[in-house]
Amino acid sequence: MKILSVNAGSSSLKFQMYEMPEEKKLISGVFERIGMDNSFYTIKFNGEKIQKEKDLKNHKEAFSILIDELKEYKVVEDLSEIKGVGHRVVQGGDYFDKSVVIDKEVKEKIKEFSCLAPLHNPAALIGIEASETVIPGAVNVAVFDTAFHQTMPIENYLYALPYEWASKYKIRRYGAHGTSHKYVSARMNEILGRTNTKLITCHIGNGASISAIKDGKCINTSMGLTPNAGLIMGTRCGDIDATIVTYMIKNYNMTAEEIENVMNKESGYLGISELSSDSRDIEDGIAKGNDKCILAQKMYVKRVVDYIAKYYVELGGCDAIVFTAGLGENSISTRREILDSLEVLGVKIDEKANNVRGEEKLITLPSSKIAAYIIPTDEELMISRDTYNLI
Ligand code: ADP
Repeated sequence: MKILSVNAGSSSLKFQMYEMPEEKKLISGVFERIGMDNSFYTIKFNGEKIQKEKDLKNHKEAFSILIDELKEYKVVEDLSEIKGVGHRVVQGGDYFDKSVVIDKEVKEKIKEFSCLAPLHNPAALIGIEASETVIPGAVNVAVFDTAFHQTMPIENYLYALPYEWASKYKIRRYGAHGTSHKYVSARMNEILGRTNTKLITCHIGNGASISAIKDGKCINTSMGLTPNAGLIMGTRCGDIDATIVTYMIKNYNMTAEEIENVMNKESGYLGISELSSDSRDIEDGIAKGNDKCILAQKMYVKRVVDYIAKYYVELGGCDAIVFTAGLGENSISTRREILDSLEVLGVKIDEKANNVRGEEKLITLPSSKIAAYIIPTDEELMISRDTYNLI
């Protein structure tokens, strides 16, 4: 059965098609700069990558071209072969605790939660509607980034604000990257050969979050009401004293929008290093003795270690630490610095094993009290699995 997985952003649309249940990836690609000048798309098929320039007015048009390309590459001969389309939806609020088949009511709910993800949920809805029009015979499924975190106990998701803020304004921790944390924790359990495990999963990419997972269920995660909580990220600050916001408004006449922009787009690695949001540039800066890059990296690693220590205590121990996403899979030095800082917990890195990028691998020594693994994430496959299972 052919399943398409779709991740619609405000100006982009990523897709992958799988043959299920074999989980065979047939084709993938990304449409970029939708609705803007110089739009283009890239297709990956049979190990080849082809880029085409094309005026893409909207997501529906991108969808139609996607279908044409599927036919062109003979991935499908007839549209009726596509039985399901799985859509990544960032915010499912406190309503969705699992993936669901999309109907009118589900779309209303996704719209309702747009206030919590104003850039992402409307884009997902556009993707869903484009799919409904272009592939009318397929079942559409919504896979929520927040759903995996719905098992957190109330003491972990509530903020110490007036209780009414949670019930009336929906202010609480929702978390994000749930599809990735679910995928890598399931894979980790597969490797360990059991499900009664205590895992700490570090999804550290441009956006970064960390979760504590007990017996396959999330009990805590670092992102909050929004993805700008917890870890230091490429351009996001993560945890700060919330009063900084009102302080800047009162004393420096900044507007809420300006502060939000700084905290989301000009902070993190970029803000501290004053150089780049990309850890590769930070690593280059460190090699050249750039003090601000050295500081940014120190702060970045320290924040991850603080969370691992906190979750280690909360889980009552830990069987494995999992690294995934851009830095987690590729930054040898970031992984090393994090694991070295955990020596006090009995963590012993295997330097040679750690010297890899993008490979599933055990990177601690047999004598290490906690194992650490690199597990490349695959959110698209997770979306396809959920879609297949619901169909
Ligand atoms: P996103 O949150 O946008 O999905 P990714 O998970 O793709 O981000 O991570 C992108 C980030 O991963 C880059 O900005 C960079 O910091 C880091 N990264 C990617 N490749 C490498 C590498 N080879 N070495 C170090 N860091 C890397």
